[in-house]
Amino acid sequence: MSHPKKFKSKEQPRVPIGEMARDLLAKWGFDPTNEAILPDRHPQYRECTRHGRYPISMVDEQDVVRYMAPVCSVCAAERASQRLMESAAIPRRYIDCDFDNYVVDVPGQRTALDVCWDYAEHFAERASKGSSLILCGNPGTGKNHLASAIARTVLSMGHSVIFATAYEITARIRQTWQHGIGNSTELEVIRGFAEAGLLIIDEVGKTFDRHAQVHLFEVINHRSRDMKPTIILSNEGVDGVEKYLGTDAFDRLCQNGGLLLFDWQSYRRGRTEA
Ligand SMILES: [Zn+2]
Repeated sequence: MSHPKKFKSKEQPRVPIGEMARDLLAKWGFDPTNEAILPDRHPQYRECTRHGRYPISMVDEQDVVRYMAPVCSVCAAERASQRLMESAAIPRRYIDCDFDNYVVDVPGQRTALDVCWDYAEHFAERASKGSSLILCGNPGTGKNHLASAIARTVLSMGHSVIFATAYEITARIRQTWQHGIGNSTELEVIRGFAEAGLLIIDEVGKTFDRHAQVHLFEVINHRSRDMKPTIILSNEGVDGVEKYLGTDAFDRLCQNGGLLLFDWQSYRRGRTEA
């Protein structure tokens, strides 16, 4: 036997297939004494309570039975997307917000839903043009809900998303001023925010101080320059947002993007801003 690979594949059938299968079945949590699932017919399947049956074995080209980890691929994809959601730091209370559970009571909400859905659905194309969105207006009208739905969709397409408040962004940049906290420089942090596939900035206009504003501009400008899309969420009206961001940044964000004014009343009295 000069060829170790060949040796291995020839050697394999000598292991009694029944015993091997029994070991594997035991390992993966089957009842190995259950003859009904032993071992001759392949592929064998296991049942996901949510997604139905999925294969746990196959026969390869050499007629060797291969067992796969008994993991439902749909569940696995969901877990992966959950991890992405967590890394995107979508606020916990919005984590279940999706397009299909956005409540439409007034025509404005229908428009908002359509625009945001369209933006998410065509994100790759929008992103290539650096097309941004500004969602502004009354609290409790669903801005965060729709932004979270966009984030979910964009994440599921494999893009990176950062969802942060204006305060969190500027605070993170300021941290770099303090000695001994982190090793990043101010520019590195700004670049980090600038590199995300989609940056959603919540509570724009809420914290006013000149430094915070300057840092926010730097992040937005970096992104505009690199043709990266940004979504701005603000409880201010159109004038308020323009005043806060400055006309240049405001125009740049509106350019081949869009502005949605959420000017109806809160659709769920007593609910926190959604
Ligand atoms: Zn499943």
